Amino acid sequence: MLVFVLNAGSSSLKYQLINAETSELKASGLVERIGIDGILKHEVGENKKLTFELPIPTHKEAIELVLRILTNDETKVIDSIKEIQAIGHRVVHGGEYFKKSVLIDDDVVKKIENLIPLAPLHNPAHVLGIKICQELMPNVPNVATFDTAFHQTMPEENFLYAVPYGDYTEHHLRKYGFHGTSHYYVSNEAVKILNKKDSKIIVCHLGNGSSVCAVRDGKSISTSMGLTPLEGLIMGTRCGDIDAGVIPYLMEKKGLDTHQIINYLNKKSGILGVSGISSDLREVIKASNDGDKRSKITIEMLCSRIKKYLCSYAGLMHGVDAICFTAGIGENSDLIREKVCNGLDFMGIELDTEKNSIRKSGIREISKKTSKTKIYIIPTNEELVIAKDTFDLVKKK
Ligand code: ADP
Repeated sequence: MLVFVLNAGSSSLKYQLINAETSELKASGLVERIGIDGILKHEVGENKKLTFELPIPTHKEAIELVLRILTNDETKVIDSIKEIQAIGHRVVHGGEYFKKSVLIDDDVVKKIENLIPLAPLHNPAHVLGIKICQELMPNVPNVATFDTAFHQTMPEENFLYAVPYGDYTEHHLRKYGFHGTSHYYVSNEAVKILNKKDSKIIVCHLGNGSSVCAVRDGKSISTSMGLTPLEGLIMGTRCGDIDAGVIPYLMEKKGLDTHQIINYLNKKSGILGVSGISSDLREVIKASNDGDKRSKITIEMLCSRIKKYLCSYAGLMHGVDAICFTAGIGENSDLIREKVCNGLDFMGIELDTEKNSIRKSGIREISKKTSKTKIYIIPTNEELVIAKDTFDLVKKK
């Protein structure tokens, strides 16, 4: 079954065309700057990379363009869009409504809309993406896969904030967690390797946005992101955990309103804010190697925060069978992996620094033979989870 996987953002959309039965990736791409000017980067296989710069005023035109590219003579991977048998949408916020992927109907769309106050930047674009697909491909079933769904198994003690309880029941104030599809995929791959019941796994998804997740017996029991993706680790431009008292203090000192303080904490902080160099960790590592002190401290802060979560999650689960690193930083930075694992031998976490430094693709183990806890690099594949969930739900239907 050919599944079109779509991740619609406010001015961008990512897509993949996947054969859900064989896991074959037929094509993928990214449309950016929708409504501004427009650029489409399209990939077929390893070698064929195409870039188109043309006006793309709306999301509808963006999706129409992608469908044309998929079927156009020069770029085609399918003869007709009729070959697309299902569409899988990545949806950031599913609130407490959705504990797993679902077939989309009017009620599902309404619920995703109801959650807009919790994900004002993301859910409106997802709804738009869904409605456009329903219009352009009226007979094709749509499925939604939620970033929050995997974390719906967290126990109350790990998702509640210590504020008056009524604000949870009345205003839905709680930790939801994100990157759920990635944490599910990576921990599930680790479970397959470990081949063990009652597994205790910690997934470190370290990308532009980053989060850690404690997965016990295949279920998320705690994760570092919260009501919004701002909580937890230090990220590209997000501060992560911070004393809530910082907010009124800074608003007063700098004369910021609510929108400005949120922008400050989400867009101007994190790796970018501390280093003053970039949100791209590669540039910060380079500057640090060239002697830049703020870049050096940024890297230390980043790793210290990850280590804090790692150790607390190992404590929460009474041990850890495997630590998995994934996403841009987790998969590619031997420096960060080494700093995070350094000194944890006392808890049975022993990194093999030589294996860690070898650059290879695919899943690999980087712990020493003697390490009680296995350490893996597991490249994430959220789109494949969406395609497979879509296939399963559509097949059942
Ligand atoms: P996103 O969350 O946007 O999907 P990615 O998972 O692609 O992000 O991760 C992007 C981050 O990965 C950037 O900070 C980038 O600097 C970092 N990264 C990629 N390769 C390396 C590397 N070799 N060393 C350090 N950081 C890297």
